[in-house]
Amino acid sequence: MANQAQMLRDIEAELAYTRRMIGRSSFDERVMQAMREVPRAEFVPRDERHLAFENGPLPIGEGQTISQPYIVALMSDLLESRQGDVVLEVGTGSGYQAAILSRLVEKVYTIEIIEGLHLRAQETLQRLRYDNVACRLGDGYHGWQEHAPYDGILVTAASPDIPPPLIDQLKPGARLVLPIGPPYGYQQLVVVEKRLKGGIEMKEVLGVAFVPLTRQRTGGEPEVN
Ligand code: SAH
Repeated sequence: MANQAQMLRDIEAELAYTRRMIGRSSFDERVMQAMREVPRAEFVPRDERHLAFENGPLPIGEGQTISQPYIVALMSDLLESRQGDVVLEVGTGSGYQAAILSRLVEKVYTIEIIEGLHLRAQETLQRLRYDNVACRLGDGYHGWQEHAPYDGILVTAASPDIPPPLIDQLKPGARLVLPIGPPYGYQQLVVVEKRLKGGIEMKEVLGVAFVPLTRQRTGGEPEVN
């Protein structure tokens, strides 16, 4: 059975393997320290706990998944956050990525569209005392206007294009990291930078497989975008 130390070694190994594609040969030591500190096992369902430190995604119920540890580290690194930052995550899921971000920045706002997952993540984050994370139930396509603008935004569900409200809620010079592509089709992890002088700059990083970003229809069930 893998342990947290093994998980860290697996992340390093995959990093070495992908370094040309992602354009970096190491992750920020702060990111690796967060990966070392946050107990992933607490964020996965009980019957998946023995797999918690494998470097792979895991089901968390409702057809959703907690991302692969390497991808969590990569996205956290690509955000290039600083200690005083306020960041937004779209797609709370298990709350694991939010917990990692909470070690790297001042404040994390995270939105989840499925109520059962939102409630469970909120409970886990409170129980483990990640007190600088605020959770909300809702459609993250629209961001979280109240606390905007953000120093960084991370989206952990794939959409065919960049949700314009997320660009609006980004500070000039800040980054949005998200998977772009069709549901269960070819997706690319992308870094979008909001230019200081207006407009955006986009960089493709790596082929990925994320669950789709769904949309809330008023009075209806969430639907695939
Ligand atoms: N970051 C999560 C992984 C999430 S999987 C973790 O660390 O565990 C993607 C999540 O995005 C799922 O829980 C899914 O329900 C959620 N999601 C999909 N569309 C969304 C939307 N429009 N707004 C908010 N959350 C959404």
